[in-house]
Amino acid sequence: MSVSSVLPRDPGCIFCKIAAGEIPAKKIHEDDELIAFHDIAPKAPIHFMIVPKAHIPSTAQLGPEHAALMGRIMLLAPKLAQEQGCTPYPDGGWRIVINTGRHGGQEVPHLHVHVLGGPRPWQWG
Ligand code: AMP
Ligand code: ZN
Repeated sequence: MSVSSVLPRDPGCIFCKIAAGEIPAKKIHEDDELIAFHDIAPKAPIHFMIVPKAHIPSTAQLGPEHAALMGRIMLLAPKLAQEQGCTPYPDGGWRIVINTGRHGGQEVPHLHVHVLGGPRPWQWG
């Protein structure tokens, strides 16, 4: 049995389908726990998302068992930002965003971490 087959999953979830390889995405990273791919409607010249393969709806559902996973995401974000061509810190840099719930502007109910960069202006100020 593969690792991904035992992860929690929502059969109707678009990011679960991308994580399972059932619908295409412009992937820039994949490992046992995480996938990263370009946003289909970029809000900045560089805009990708880091997504846990497990179906966690949002930051509201995070518990102590997710500490290492979230730590891995926070380490992966700057690595991928630089690989994707974001100008180095401090003159360049990037924005890391996690929308949560309706008031937080979350559209896809599967936890994801946006990473945005590149020369301004951006659609997301
Ligand atoms: P949020 O508003 O934080 O839930 O962000 C959801 C993001 O997912 C939006 O920026 C969408 O453009 C993006 N998105 C939706 N469907 C796809 C898809 N199939 N592939 C890549 N990005 C997507
Ligand atoms: Zn999901």
